[in-house]
Amino acid sequence: MKKIKKKIAVYYNKLVELGLNIGSEGNISFRDEKTIFITPSGVDSSKLNENKIAEVDFNGRVKNKIKASSELFMHLFIYRERPDVKAIVHCHSEWASIVSCQRLKIPAFHYMVAEFGGVDIKCAKYSTFGTKKLAFNVLDALKLRNGCLISNHGQLTLGNSIEDALHLAISLEKLSKQFFFCNLTEKLKLLNKNEMNKVLKLFKNYKSKH
Ligand SMILES: [Zn+2]
Repeated sequence: MKKIKKKIAVYYNKLVELGLNIGSEGNISFRDEKTIFITPSGVDSSKLNENKIAEVDFNGRVKNKIKASSELFMHLFIYRERPDVKAIVHCHSEWASIVSCQRLKIPAFHYMVAEFGGVDIKCAKYSTFGTKKLAFNVLDALKLRNGCLISNHGQLTLGNSIEDALHLAISLEKLSKQFFFCNLTEKLKLLNKNEMNKVLKLFKNYKSKH
């Protein structure tokens, strides 16, 4: 348990080092069978350590007297609905936030979009941060997907491990930047469903990351 809490603190700092977050923005969580371990509310990444990670049960009750992230509902609702998910990374990375402010989904402009589980990456509808409504909107955008943008806010990614979820967060940031610029021109050509299905099949069969 201590090991996973330490890992959350290390990766929360990694988000800052990678330029995906600043200060106490965003949050990371990991779940085991009975507990969700999640970054606390309002603690700067530089001051975070394993003793400050909140522990919450699946009804949202705090188990160790530490106030969980303000986006606890997002994490809670995802873990309840998606037993396949073990870790969640949420951040306000620059390019994902820019595309989220345009409220655009990312279409099949690059084959790596398939890494997120389908032919596009959705943008969750806007609602005030920290609300149940926002958590529902995010859950909806994650249907059959491992990540999404969140309108006028940022991005969220899922994984079997914190490493997996972080990998997707970096990938979504990169795809958002590429899509932003491609979308400025009339020359953007999208991949068709047939081509994307081939890639989705390859990803499924080989769990390739290339
Ligand atoms: Zn946020």
